[in-house]
Amino acid sequence: MAKVELKNLNKTYNKKIEALQDINLTIEDGQFFVLLGPSGAGKTTTLRCIGGLEKIDSGSILFNDEPVTEDQPASRDVCFVFQQYSLYPHYSVYENLAFPLRSPMRKLPEEQIKNKVENIAAMLKISNKLNNKATQLSGGEMQRVAIGRALVREPNIYLMDEPLSSLDAKLRETLRVELKNIQTNLKATILYVTHDQAEATTLADKIGVLKEGKIVQIGAPEEIYENPDSIYVSQRLGSPKINILPSSLFGMADNIPTIGIRPENISIGSGQYSGKIISIENLGSETVVAISFQEHEILASIQGNYKSSINETINFDINVQKVLNFDEKGNRIYER
Ligand code: ADP
Ligand code: MG
Repeated sequence: MAKVELKNLNKTYNKKIEALQDINLTIEDGQFFVLLGPSGAGKTTTLRCIGGLEKIDSGSILFNDEPVTEDQPASRDVCFVFQQYSLYPHYSVYENLAFPLRSPMRKLPEEQIKNKVENIAAMLKISNKLNNKATQLSGGEMQRVAIGRALVREPNIYLMDEPLSSLDAKLRETLRVELKNIQTNLKATILYVTHDQAEATTLADKIGVLKEGKIVQIGAPEEIYENPDSIYVSQRLGSPKINILPSSLFGMADNIPTIGIRPENISIGSGQYSGKIISIENLGSETVVAISFQEHEILASIQGNYKSSINETINFDINVQKVLNFDEKGNRIYER
């Protein structure tokens, strides 16, 4: 597989919609790179530019240090996986998986095709479905086959466009784990785009955060979580969401307008502040308590169960070590 680089990439649609602006990123060979951003941020456009399905306005795309910017899509040897599985309905699962290996250019011996298909089917836990027609599968199984069909090949890079988003929550979680295991085993280079923060943190070696066609931060999931460069980035990761509050609430320095505190960095039961409980959500391993404090709502996340009732007044405290400071534009103020 390949190392893939985007350098100063710009893409506009109809000469006016600036879909991508000065995108710079490197996906190392064997890396699982996730682009995270809301709808309209430019995720699909990025994948289509790498695959050569969209012409870029300026910048360059390199595979293993060689420019491919002018190359035709077919010669770039990339492999797409889309949200909507696109299987050949009348083919068996086996034939769907074998299809990419049967191109006349490859001329792989049948024995080798069989080996590859069976390997991937085992990884994706669909070995017992190989003889089924694609139409006889559940949605989750179809998406497994669609992913498997990509994985039987060894392209330069897999380009995955929210491939799990049409599945139900439980299946998404399962496939997420399986995909990560398979990628690790195959040492595959993957660019995976999603708006789902849980997918980003569990899958990624590296996350790039996209905002309105620009990359605003790149880092390992824990770096992005612990050390966001802006309010925008801080809000992309973490559930329940980070509390963004005026610093005056807690009597902090005047030159810091806004602070961010993650819910796990707020303790309740004792402390110097006092507020009223608005809601309590018990999630099993943690409890999310919403507190009303000086007309602001503050979320605290507590390990285990928390016995209390709505409208009760409680004391709480914040872990000042973990407070993030932001300026009036929402950019991080780093301590000197
Ligand atoms: P995402 O995949 O993150 O939701 P897209 O890459 O699809 O975002 O879109 C980025 C921006 O480009 C959006 O403003 C979208 O409306 C616009 N866009 C995408 N495709 C086209 C197109 N074919 N023609 C015109 N505008 C487009
Ligand atoms: Mg998209």
